[in-house]
Amino acid sequence: MRFLPTYKCLQELSQTCICGSPSVENISHILFDCQLYAPIRLEYLSPFLERTVHRDPIHRLSYLLSGSNVYIVRKVAKFVTKAAALRTQYVEQIGVSCKGDLHI
Ligand SMILES: [Zn+2]
Repeated sequence: MRFLPTYKCLQELSQTCICGSPSVENISHILFDCQLYAPIRLEYLSPFLERTVHRDPIHRLSYLLSGSNVYIVRKVAKFVTKAAALRTQYVEQIGVSCKGDLHI
């Protein structure tokens, strides 16, 4: 019940990313494609993404999120933390009125 307002809000936004692309705002889009996070992706994830031979998003996700390399886990965690802060700033900037959205 606690997450009901956020869920309802996301349904109203049709789950497309706030960056303006028609993409669904999912973990693959956030980690690899979203233009909002390009600067922090370059800083935290690009060194690992350049090393992997995988081009398929599922394999790339598995590579980053497997937890087998503590250094990669820390970089992904920093990326996600920074991305969440950027998203909050961007939502405030564009004036999305979405009760509960700031708690995502
Ligand atoms: Zn996006």
